[in-house]
Amino acid sequence: MTLHKNSSAATPQSSEHRAEDYYGSRKRLFIGLITGTSILLCTILLLFWIVPYIGLANIHPLLPYLSGAFLFGLIAVIAWASLGLVLHILKGRPVLGTQRMRGLTIKLFLPLMVLLARFLGISKERVRHSFIKVNNELVRSENDTFEPKQILILTPHCLQSSQCAIRLSYDVDHCKRCGKCPVSMLLRLRDHYGVQFAIATGGTIARRIVVQKRPRMIIAVACERDLTSGIQDTYPLPVYGVLNERPHGPCLDTVVTEETLEKALRMFLKNPPAPLALNVILDDRSGSKLSGQAEGISAPSGDNSSSRLSSEGEE
Ligand code: SF4
Repeated sequence: MTLHKNSSAATPQSSEHRAEDYYGSRKRLFIGLITGTSILLCTILLLFWIVPYIGLANIHPLLPYLSGAFLFGLIAVIAWASLGLVLHILKGRPVLGTQRMRGLTIKLFLPLMVLLARFLGISKERVRHSFIKVNNELVRSENDTFEPKQILILTPHCLQSSQCAIRLSYDVDHCKRCGKCPVSMLLRLRDHYGVQFAIATGGTIARRIVVQKRPRMIIAVACERDLTSGIQDTYPLPVYGVLNERPHGPCLDTVVTEETLEKALRMFLKNPPAPLALNVILDDRSGSKLSGQAEGISAPSGDNSSSRLSSEGEE
């Protein structure tokens, strides 16, 4: 039985928070660091005003008030931005007129938060983890959906089996789809949804691929470090980050589940077709995503179907 499309199903928020749950990563680390960073910034600005206060009065009696007004204005902006960002993260939607907070998070808060975290003895890894999660929520709360060709799935080459002799960096279609690594699954998703898919062998190649393919939205698979730098490099392009699993250690035969990627794709696609993975069908049903239209759908058979239908993954 054919599954009908449901346009209401395509909104990012209808997928709620099921597509990623980064191994217990907590938003509260991010919220704590944002709050700490903005308090620190405001205190430094206050000191900048108080210390030269006496000297400024000697030049002109109005100067302390003018510099005070400027610095207090700056403090008010920082306080508003950080409070807005925290509320945005907590509520999952923009508040206090802070519609586009991603830029502020990426450009201003993240570098300062990494410094503060280092001072507090918190690992970069944990901060990046938390940043990716918050970035994903901010991307999702922008509520944009895209045509298939506007979405690019970008993955690292370590997803390809280290035993495979085929070179895929220039053309992923050289893959024989033997099912021994996630590349065949990624090609299946690409073909089913009509999105773009590329494998990058490094940051420079990734940037070149983005320039060539001109996506309007990227679903990137990588480790914490590469996802964080990729999200920063490609701003303002929205990047939804999916962490790869590393059962053999970093950069070797890493994996990602079809279910995780399919859920991510469906969040951002306009009118997506029927899902391929059974768990996604069930999730869509429970989330009213397909509103009763999924009756009779069975997961397609084919290579690797058992792994596709398993409930493994990040949740
Ligand atoms: S699916 Fe098979 S042919 Fe394709 S990249 Fe992986 S190991 Fe190579």
